[in-house]
Amino acid sequence: MTARAKPLFAANWKMFKGPLEAEEFAGNFSSLYAAHPDRRVAFFPPAISLEAFVRATEQRPDLEAGIQDVHEEVDGAHTGAISALMAAQVGLTWALAGHSERRREFGDDDALVSAKVCRILDAGLKPIVCIGETLEEREAGMLSEVLERQIRAVLASVDGEPLTWAYEPVWAIGTGLTASPDDAGEAHEIVREAIRGGGGGELADSAVILYGGSVKPGNIEQLMAVPGVDGVLVGGASLDPETFASICACPIGVR
Ligand code: PGA
Repeated sequence: MTARAKPLFAANWKMFKGPLEAEEFAGNFSSLYAAHPDRRVAFFPPAISLEAFVRATEQRPDLEAGIQDVHEEVDGAHTGAISALMAAQVGLTWALAGHSERRREFGDDDALVSAKVCRILDAGLKPIVCIGETLEEREAGMLSEVLERQIRAVLASVDGEPLTWAYEPVWAIGTGLTASPDDAGEAHEIVREAIRGGGGGELADSAVILYGGSVKPGNIEQLMAVPGVDGVLVGGASLDPETFASICACPIGVR
């Protein structure tokens, strides 16, 4: 049997917190949250704040960092873009790909997301591939179809590397609506089965699958108790150090 990875608590700050606020947050969070050896914690500040955040957490190797998005090419004339290789130079562990806000606002489709995942892996970073259905797709009974399509596109372009996934129902992001434990459990099962179908049993068993969408202190324990939920990707509730520290310190039992 494949050993399970430690649960991951990830903070997606989106377009919040410049370098000064990121540094201040790092100081506050470090004093509020003591390292827990049974879990991982990662932050995704805006790209411009990454260096300040990494510097401010130098004494806390348990606090990892990642970039929210990278360009799909290694380098080139792409004004304003950042490559995965550049991000790796800052001392990061992770990179997000395919967040629904990128898919919606910047046109990141499955092909582009897959290319980004490849660049992230090439750069030695760990991708977190975000997937999820819109409300219209869910209501049209397309949950499995959408998740399978998003997953297969990525698996078809990588070389069997173990990946971390974030199932984020689009209708639950920033809306205060959270998937019920049953809905989250069902979707996570679909995701793992789709990974099994596209990449094989070992990849499916070792895949880390996060839940994201209005995670907060009031629902974290319930969500972490859902079979197949290996961690969370938190937006709004990760912006306040006290709130995110209480999420990261939640009881998770023996896994
Ligand atoms: P939310 O965002 O926690 O604010 O819903 C989650 C995300 O977009 O990753």
